[in-house]
Amino acid sequence: MIMRRRTRDQLDSLALEIRSCRRCPLSKDRTKAVPGEGPEWAEILLVGEAPGRDENLAGRPFVGRAGSVLDRCLEEAGIDRSRIFITNAVKCRPPNNRRPKNDEVEACRPYLEAQIELVQPKVVILMGNAATKAVLDLEGVTSLRGRLFKEIYLVTFHPAAVLRNGNLREVFISDLLAAKDKVDGRWPPARDEDYSD
Ligand code: SF4
Repeated sequence: MIMRRRTRDQLDSLALEIRSCRRCPLSKDRTKAVPGEGPEWAEILLVGEAPGRDENLAGRPFVGRAGSVLDRCLEEAGIDRSRIFITNAVKCRPPNNRRPKNDEVEACRPYLEAQIELVQPKVVILMGNAATKAVLDLEGVTSLRGRLFKEIYLVTFHPAAVLRNGNLREVFISDLLAAKDKVDGRWPPARDEDYSD
């Protein structure tokens, strides 16, 4: 219990630091930085790309249209959003929702690494190319999705991609279910032969 409280305090301190961070140019145009949110004991940690317009205003991750898609898919997969930790590769909104630049991702990476280190989830779901590049230095989500790296990182599509292309929805939910299987110690998931290390 004491350990958990200490981890919570460290996550909260990190969030405070992120909210006043000026390490990269994205700090100039942000309204609110979005550190991420979730319990310190979360077994699943989700990583997206960057805050969008709604997140920039609210200071919370995935509260816009892509967030609605994420919420519905989580619900369908039987995952309670309040029990997972959700964050992004960069914590401040890039202008016009452009993809974050490499130096911005680099500047922000220590925050993401610290969050993963503190939460110690059983699976980290990397949603989309930016998150996958930031953590694994790999690109090409279409070919990487459904694969587990370093026994903890599961690659899948970003909810915004699911919003644009409804055909990805089933695959995205399948990957969320696979993450649940990983949490329960079942990998590769028995119900789908396509999942492998
Ligand atoms: S994106 Fe990350 S590194 Fe850049 S200012 Fe925001 S919190 Fe700091």
